[in-house]
Amino acid sequence: MTKLSTVAVLGAGPAGLMAAWELNKAGYKVVLIEAENQVGGMSATLKFKGNHGDYRFDYGGHRFITRNPELLQFVEDLMGDELLHSLRKSVIRFQGRTYQYPLALGDLLKNAPTGLLLGAASDLLFKLPFNQPVQDRDNASFAEWIESRFGPTLYRNFFEGYTAKLWGIDPTQLSADWASQRISLLDLKDVAQRLLPQRSDTPRTYARKYRYPKLGFGRIFEKLADHLVENGVELLLNHPVQGLRTEGKQLKAIHCGPKGAIKEIAVDQVIATLPLPMMADFIQIPHQLRYRSLRFFNMPMLTENISDNTWQYLSDPNIMATRLQEPRRRSPYMAPTGQTSLMMEIPCFKGDNLWSMDNAQLQPQVMADLRSLGVNTDASSGEYFSSFSEHAYPLMQLGYQQERHRVIEQLNDYQNLIMTGRQGTFRYIFTDTAMEMGQLAARSLIDKQDRRGEIFDFRNEPTVIETQSVA
Ligand SMILES: Cc1cc2nc3c(=O)[nH]c(=O)nc-3n(C[C@H](O)[C@H](O)[C@H](O)COP(=O)(O)OP(=O)(O)OC[C@H]3O[C@@H](n4cnc5c(N)ncnc54)[C@H](O)[C@@H]3O)c2cc1C
Repeated sequence: MTKLSTVAVLGAGPAGLMAAWELNKAGYKVVLIEAENQVGGMSATLKFKGNHGDYRFDYGGHRFITRNPELLQFVEDLMGDELLHSLRKSVIRFQGRTYQYPLALGDLLKNAPTGLLLGAASDLLFKLPFNQPVQDRDNASFAEWIESRFGPTLYRNFFEGYTAKLWGIDPTQLSADWASQRISLLDLKDVAQRLLPQRSDTPRTYARKYRYPKLGFGRIFEKLADHLVENGVELLLNHPVQGLRTEGKQLKAIHCGPKGAIKEIAVDQVIATLPLPMMADFIQIPHQLRYRSLRFFNMPMLTENISDNTWQYLSDPNIMATRLQEPRRRSPYMAPTGQTSLMMEIPCFKGDNLWSMDNAQLQPQVMADLRSLGVNTDASSGEYFSSFSEHAYPLMQLGYQQERHRVIEQLNDYQNLIMTGRQGTFRYIFTDTAMEMGQLAARSLIDKQDRRGEIFDFRNEPTVIETQSVA
């Protein structure tokens, strides 16, 4: 392949944009094909013109953390003084009480009902010391993983209901994979130790500091895209990929564009950040892979602050949302001066009742939930709208790993195709990892080395990812 080959990068989210960046820098001709009318994917920011000014909403509030100092420097250089340093403060709301997140013993002792405390103490003394924590994250369930570390009492109170609501499946059917990378505490002993003064060599379990652009997370990707277009990358917005033309085990062309105006783009190489199941469908590989979706219910509020929390995790199963967020907590520029806004993150499956319901039908339920959380709903401006992430979470059902590997192996038969990013590898990863994966995909083309195996399991260590953030 010569440097003048056309590389089609499918999807202009963080992974696709970074792949295009590397290829463009190395002199390749790049066409970046995106379904939506803006770049950024799930890391984009929406603008809302309200009756009282302009508001901005992420697709679920994001923050930039990374363990890669070069990537942090890259984002800092790109954003200049648009990048704020923020601190995260989160709480768990459960049965009318508010707990610190992550759980800490001092706070539990102060806030938890006696029954819960006695149960947790008895688990700590009489159950956990006699059971080994489950280690086999490929085959164990989320429920087994958590119970073996935190005991049945904390599992039932803090994890079970929240997890079932978030994933839409019973936690006994969810893979331990998710817990092993995403629960920012190690075990109940760790919860207890957080009561003690921290020594300087104590490993961090949780990243509090993060970077956030003044005008929303999506600004990082808008700026990246502007730079790419200025430097000759062809960016096709509103061009959903609808199919692929293959010859043997080669991809020959991409069919994209709105129905009725689909064009064919001939390609030499393809870097795809589209959902793995979608690519499998295009090539007719049967699979059982599914996504959990999110509906965000967004509302301007005619008051300055709702609370000082970045996130409120909503554990009660009878509240629809899993998190309540106030975008202004990330950056004061997300709402007009003197005002704020709210976002409820409601998990659902595409096409189910919660996904399909009219905003007007959903609004009274959201208001009732907010009132039960003590939010003064009279401050609402009366405006509201929903935004949607269809591919929010790869559904990590027990056994999904084998299915994922099988599909990946079949796609890897296509020598001129590299799948990458969160969607392309069907992984629950943060933006920084998606960006690194995009770079890795591009570099494997530039260096002419097949790194697809490395990309699929990139940063897949069984550690709490947040612990090593340098941001
Ligand atoms: C609720 C929530 C909160 C999160 N919070 C954080 C956070 O605080 N910090 C953090 O670092 N990460 C966070 N993440 C993760 C972050 O959103 C993702 O890791 C990141 O966006 C993945 O980038 P990607 O490019 O791999 O995929 P995506 O962002 O999904 O981009 C894929 C792109 O492909 C496009 N596409 C899809 N189908 C087609 C098609 N047929 N044709 C053309 N284009 C198509 C999409 O429109 C999209 O632009 C969060 C995720 C969620 C769901």
